[in-house]
Amino acid sequence: MVTGYRARLALDGGVPVRTRAIPTTLERAGRRFDEAEEEAVLRVVRSGMLSSVWGHETRALESEFAELVGVDHAVACSSGTAAIHLAIAAVDPAPGDEIIVPPISDIGSVLPVLAHNAVPVFADVDPDTGCLDPAAVEAALTPRTRAIMAVHLFGKPAPVDRLRAIADRAGAVLIEDCAQSYLAPTPGGALAGAVGHVGCFSLQQHKHITAGDGGLAVTRDPALAERMRLFADKGWPRAEGRVYRSFALNYRMTELTAAVARAQLRKLSGVVADRRAAAARLRAALDGVDHPVLPDDDGHVYWYLPLLVDGIDQRGLARYGDALTAEGVPAIAGYLARPLYAEPVLRDELAYGGSGYPTRGARSYPDGLCPVAEEMIARRLVVVPWNENLSTEDVEDVAQAIGKVHRAVTAASDGSAA
Ligand SMILES: *Cc1c(COP(=O)(O)O)cnc(C)c1O
Repeated sequence: MVTGYRARLALDGGVPVRTRAIPTTLERAGRRFDEAEEEAVLRVVRSGMLSSVWGHETRALESEFAELVGVDHAVACSSGTAAIHLAIAAVDPAPGDEIIVPPISDIGSVLPVLAHNAVPVFADVDPDTGCLDPAAVEAALTPRTRAIMAVHLFGKPAPVDRLRAIADRAGAVLIEDCAQSYLAPTPGGALAGAVGHVGCFSLQQHKHITAGDGGLAVTRDPALAERMRLFADKGWPRAEGRVYRSFALNYRMTELTAAVARAQLRKLSGVVADRRAAAARLRAALDGVDHPVLPDDDGHVYWYLPLLVDGIDQRGLARYGDALTAEGVPAIAGYLARPLYAEPVLRDELAYGGSGYPTRGARSYPDGLCPVAEEMIARRLVVVPWNENLSTEDVEDVAQAIGKVHRAVTAASDGSAA
């Protein structure tokens, strides 16, 4: 078949669309740091108080963040994973209780479940978004279900209104993992994090805003807030003197982190607006060109730009990601190497001294457990890390690279199938 002119892929020795590196979140060019963050660090160091136990930066961050999300309480902690552990600890599962989780996320969504001796139960995802499918969650409920963890994957709001209704009917807690979704409006109007019983955010280097590492857990429920606060500080209610009320760890945020996070918080709405504007420019630039399926824009805050490619095989998808990267647009085929349940930590039961605790005999994690997620990771999903500083030229180059690679890789796989 004659397909007309096709530019040779950089992967195959052609000229790359882009030779100058596109800014990433691993460097200043892809982040928003200025005098405000510098002043924040100096303010804390000069005060002599670097601990949140006695300082006021972390408490101020908590109230500013709670207000921004539209809830009553926020508890700061040392990472997004820690924030999720706070939420799980507040659920207070007994050993063997179950938490429903999605197979496509950062492993930080799941490890705290194991750390709290509970069993992760994986439910499959929506084929368009990769977020939990409410019907699959419904089917995964058992009398031991204590919580459901919804991840707003890549910044697209998960159907948390429906998941909240399912959780309420089941007497379970809905935890929203918002590490990739700051200020994302959910279908019901509330922001991501304000619909579930608890919302968990991360300040890791790659997220919308960062202080290197750090986390925030938000809730409307004062009892959950108190349990999370105690869990982050050794079970020690400081106002009551030296008493340890509950099992807990030390997940405290430092004042340095909180001060930087406060400065970042003031930039957050601009960061989200600029990420959305760049995505809109990309959409416009790809108009009329053969391209992969772009995400539904509604409520999306574009942590990453996920692309869905249909009609290619596993090798084709790997080539798609490699080809984009070679064109100068760093991309990751599949986002993950495998669904989270296929990771050694779960499949090989590596927690707790080889005992198999807490999953052995309760759950196994075979291939085929979540076919929609497996298909996305192996054959459909390519992600392009996004950021708030992409220029008009950057976005045009991304669009050109996507068009070029899409044409070449999908045409090649058409040919081999014929
Ligand atoms: C980054 C991330 C986490 C973990 O956050 P850390 O701050 O790296 O511990 C959890 N869930 C999701 C969806 C994430 O993207």
